[in-house]
Amino acid sequence: MLWVFIPMLISIGVFNGYRIYNDHRLMLNQIEQDVVGSLHLINEAITILESLFENRMSDGLDLFMEEYFQSGGDPGKIDLEDLSARLNDQMDLYIINAESVIQYTTLEQDLGLDMKNLGGFYDYLEQVRAAGAPQVDPISKETLTGLYRKYAYAPTPDKEWILELGLKNSVIASYLQALDPISVIERLVSNNSVLNGIRMIDKDGWEISMSTPSRVDDVIAERAFQVVEFSRVIEINQWDKTLRYIQISSDGDFKWGVLDQVIELDYNRSSLMSGIIANLLVTVFSILICLVLARRFRRVELELRQHAVYDVLTGIYNRRYGMNMLEREVIRSKRLNSPFCCLLIDIDHFKSINDNYGHDVGDQVLRRVSQELQKFIRPYDSFFRYGGEEFMILMPGLTLQEAYSCAERMREICESVKFSLSKTESDLSITFSAGVAQCQPNDTHKTLIKRADKALYEAKRSGRNRVLSSAA
Ligand code: GH3
Ligand code: MG
Ligand code: MG
Repeated sequence: MLWVFIPMLISIGVFNGYRIYNDHRLMLNQIEQDVVGSLHLINEAITILESLFENRMSDGLDLFMEEYFQSGGDPGKIDLEDLSARLNDQMDLYIINAESVIQYTTLEQDLGLDMKNLGGFYDYLEQVRAAGAPQVDPISKETLTGLYRKYAYAPTPDKEWILELGLKNSVIASYLQALDPISVIERLVSNNSVLNGIRMIDKDGWEISMSTPSRVDDVIAERAFQVVEFSRVIEINQWDKTLRYIQISSDGDFKWGVLDQVIELDYNRSSLMSGIIANLLVTVFSILICLVLARRFRRVELELRQHAVYDVLTGIYNRRYGMNMLEREVIRSKRLNSPFCCLLIDIDHFKSINDNYGHDVGDQVLRRVSQELQKFIRPYDSFFRYGGEEFMILMPGLTLQEAYSCAERMREICESVKFSLSKTESDLSITFSAGVAQCQPNDTHKTLIKRADKALYEAKRSGRNRVLSSAA
């Protein structure tokens, strides 16, 4: 039974564990899709915002160029403050000279800034100048300040000057705040018990944020780098959490001025772990209960088998089992055509032992007599309690004469034994009478018993303490 139940419980446990784990994985996938989907939505909104700003800045550049023409090619004559006001104070104005130095600007701190010191940006600016066409850049993070800005440039026809507009961060930020991926992500995190947190990290190890970017620790920076460099997903499972690093955009056109972004998703594993542990405990507990019950069943089964076969008082075979053996021995003796005798023994005046010494002593006598008789039993004989103070011995292979001699020897020995029993002052002498019958070809076990019983009756009648054989 155990071989069915224990593998079954283990299978159920494994199946449940797998299901809990699978559900958890599905949930992680769902969350990941939500996050990536939200970021793509933001991306699309930003694209729309870009085109809105682009129109506004193109118009601004047209106005700027008009002013330049009206100044007769001398940008020093342009009233930048007035122009800025006409552009709703949303933009900073710059005029860059042939040496790529900011010669005029509404932003005092940038006056005299030499673009040649800005490396790659200088090359880019010179390309714009050489191309001679207006150029509006996408929103990007300014290298010097880390703020989000959007710039537009218009080289003058003689390429002497570059008129530049810079959309103020305050204008961009008011829009971007609503589309801030960090706040969108924070909302996702706060609504989800499985998510501990989400961070966006660039491949250089900077945590992306609308305000102040901060550096992540080196281990995480290395993971982000690996994800970008080898376009793979990194997953780190710890006891209480799962960290997943994925690339933010499959098409690589994500905005915010940082292309190589990585999302770090920090998932809580406590519900998974508690589920798996609970499942494990239930399985182990069920197996233990199964083992305990099996032990119990085995003991009860043994007891039942004991009762079915053995006599409780004397410990020898009981009547039911003995009668089965008798039936089999009768059949076997006839089949093999070999002699078989049955000896029926009855203790003499047993009732008086009960009457004189009590039932307990009677019981002791029954046990001791059965022990004494047991000594005569050959390995192929069978000995059982036939009734109250009656015993039967099955003697295959013995003729009537041999069985009689054997019984007579038993009787003599029993007669000579002094039974010293508790609660009795003197030793007791016990005798028995017996009838022996040999199985005949036309005998059944019943007729055989009948003849043995008849012989026993004769033995009693003729004075007891004797053995009589039954005539065939
Ligand atoms: P006889 O010589 O004619 O056989 O006389 P007896 O007294 O032995 O025979 P009888 O059949 O009159 O009495 C048998 C007694 O055995 C009656 C019964 O109370 C007693 N007896 C039967 N089973 C048990 C038992 O398990 N324990 C005890 N103590 N007595 C038992
Ligand atoms: Mg009797
Ligand atoms: Mg008796």
